[in-house]
Amino acid sequence: MIDINKLFNDKYKKEDMKKPINLIAFLSLKNAVVSYFSTYKSIKDIADNIFESSTAIFIPNYIEQYYETIIHFQHFFELIMKDILKENNKIDTKELNELGFITALEKIIDLVKKNELKKDKYEFFYKNEKVLRKLNTKRNDLWHRESVFLKYKSFDVIIGKYIFPIVNEIVELPEYKGLDRLWRGTNRKLHSGIEPFNEIILICKSKNPHLDKLAFFKELGRASYNYERGFGELKPDFVKRAENIAKNEVKESPTNENIMLCPVCGVKSLVRYEDVTRDIDCQPYIRDIKCYSCTFELHYKGMRNLKDFYKEYGILDFWLN
Ligand SMILES: [Zn+2]
Repeated sequence: MIDINKLFNDKYKKEDMKKPINLIAFLSLKNAVVSYFSTYKSIKDIADNIFESSTAIFIPNYIEQYYETIIHFQHFFELIMKDILKENNKIDTKELNELGFITALEKIIDLVKKNELKKDKYEFFYKNEKVLRKLNTKRNDLWHRESVFLKYKSFDVIIGKYIFPIVNEIVELPEYKGLDRLWRGTNRKLHSGIEPFNEIILICKSKNPHLDKLAFFKELGRASYNYERGFGELKPDFVKRAENIAKNEVKESPTNENIMLCPVCGVKSLVRYEDVTRDIDCQPYIRDIKCYSCTFELHYKGMRNLKDFYKEYGILDFWLN
């Protein structure tokens, strides 16, 4: 029989990381960001209802992405706060193991107020205390208590307006520079030059952010994690295959105008799907767009034409012929 102790002791360490806590913290951050970006995809077919009336959503995929977003952002912040306290010699290893999210937050705020932790570096924890406390409560509700969820719009705004800016403060700290690849992957910029993470922060600065704009950038962000350029361009055989699938999808169309350049991966494998069944005159309209290289995908419901807002990025006319 296999010895269970032997199995659990069969371990290894990632020795080349200066601080192993960073690996887990930043992987958690990646999970949180990807999950948040994925929340549009899980509701896209009914987005018009959700954007307009913010109805309750009980779609398993959406609930899963929501849950992963909350859990992983809270985990990321907790590990980072502990790391800052440990690295600044404010706690020992024993205390590190005993500290929870709130006690770590309170300790940092106390030390910042007393200037025992550099105010200019860590003051953002103090400024965002309320948000961090509320995020922790939401995480605890999900983890320990009940299935209560935030409405779609409020959740969107909380992440874009409050959580993403705190993440920005952390990843800009000198001690965490150079860890981008762990959470952003190798494709920080999309083919179109857009940075979805920063665009979402900008949109959420307005009083009444448009949910379709946010959804558009979330989907760009989600799809960007599906392709990794690595050290060079996409492999030619991969590109060819995606282009061939796209061509096959529109083979009944006499022109190729329904195959477009994808703003995420830059491959000409973005297909516009027409639907002629909706209107009495059988005027075609675009129902969906989908890229067969990176999986970028939008559904027409709830989504205005975005090209007018984003001329500077060369966003194409997805919906109209
Ligand atoms: Zn693509």
